[in-house]
Amino acid sequence: MALIRQKQVVVVGAGAFGGWTALQLQRQGANVTLCEMAAAGHGLSSSGGESRVIRHVYPKRIYVDMAARAMKLWEQADRDWGQQLFHRKGVLFMSTGGDFVDRARGHMSNAGVDFENLNASQLASRYPQLNPDGLESAIFEPSAGYLDASRACAVVRKAFLEAGGQWREGRVEPGVIRNGEMPGVILPGGDVLNADRLVFACGPWLKRMFAGLIGNNLAVTRQEVYFFRIPKDQVESLGAGLPVWAEIGKTCWYGIPGANGLFKLADDTHGREVDPDTQSREPTAVGVESARRYMRFRFPGMSGAQLADAEVCQYTVTPDHDFVLDWHPQAENVLLVGGGSGHGFKHGPALGELAADVILDRRSAPAEFSLSRWQ
Ligand SMILES: Cc1cc2nc3c(=O)[nH]c(=O)nc-3n(C[C@H](O)[C@H](O)[C@H](O)COP(=O)(O)OP(=O)(O)OC[C@H]3O[C@@H](n4cnc5c(N)ncnc54)[C@H](O)[C@@H]3O)c2cc1C
Repeated sequence: MALIRQKQVVVVGAGAFGGWTALQLQRQGANVTLCEMAAAGHGLSSSGGESRVIRHVYPKRIYVDMAARAMKLWEQADRDWGQQLFHRKGVLFMSTGGDFVDRARGHMSNAGVDFENLNASQLASRYPQLNPDGLESAIFEPSAGYLDASRACAVVRKAFLEAGGQWREGRVEPGVIRNGEMPGVILPGGDVLNADRLVFACGPWLKRMFAGLIGNNLAVTRQEVYFFRIPKDQVESLGAGLPVWAEIGKTCWYGIPGANGLFKLADDTHGREVDPDTQSREPTAVGVESARRYMRFRFPGMSGAQLADAEVCQYTVTPDHDFVLDWHPQAENVLLVGGGSGHGFKHGPALGELAADVILDRRSAPAEFSLSRWQ
């Protein structure tokens, strides 16, 4: 009987995309080395920090389906690993105008996702803790919620190691492409780690690493996240009593109330372009004031709340906000995965499954995520 040799795969980057890709590949029989310059989900990466929203509400069908698959896989992971990374607090997605929520409704109905429509007066009576001014309608998704972020990356790494994967710490460089292939990655000492196939899931660092190829189509933007302490007399209504929420229209604010007694709040507007290695991780006074102003308006009970903590992170944004998952046009054994565009974390398990299938020649990369869409 002929022996089929296991594919040697190197995955660079242990964030939400690379970590899950490495785990899914290892589970599917590849021999995987995961290269990471720091810890999985470290504080400078896009997957670091406390939490991320998970929801089906998307105006494009591909993400509704991916979110559905990802939710199943997050649930399965919680069962298998005996811990809770996925918190089903429910998600309230409110609209102040535009067609984002209406388009999402159509796709979610077609995909059979369980959700409830709320009009402005239903919103006002159900959530007296929020000021309904300017809100037109909302979707409430009871089975959605939030995920632990940094902690999930560490747990995925552990599962990957337990599945037999290899871990290499250090900043690697792409190898030199010869005859249409990349033989491996260059390790910090200059040695080459060879592989049959390679996945570069380097988050914001992808822009510089493949500057000539995708640099112009990735914007690495600065994003601030604030954690305000919920006043003692508001803990029930603004903590436990409020689902994860987002408001989309002219602006987009979102929040995760209640985790650790804090009220997480962030503006989804893309900040200025930054370098992930050198950008300041201190919140700006202007940003904090803008968060306070919004909070005073929409959640009056949070007026005057004390700022307990802040995180500064970065999005890697593509022009259409769609991900990148495609073969390198000059190296047929190299898959590029990234462009999370501020919404990638939740999809980690589903995107990892897709990337693993593409690497193992079981599925083609979706046209939506192709590099050729920009030509
Ligand atoms: C503030 C903020 C809020 C967000 N909110 C949400 C949300 O609510 N819901 C949601 O779904 N998504 C959200 N996102 C988006 C989501 O977090 C990202 O899309 C996702 O984490 C991107 O993961 P990644 O693996 O591509 O990148 P990263 O997490 O940055 O991982 C890339 C990894 O590659 C490593 N690396 C890079 N270069 C090298 C090299 N040369 N050698 C070795 N290692 C290397 C890095 O160290 C890093 O660990 C948010 C993002 C931010 C910043």
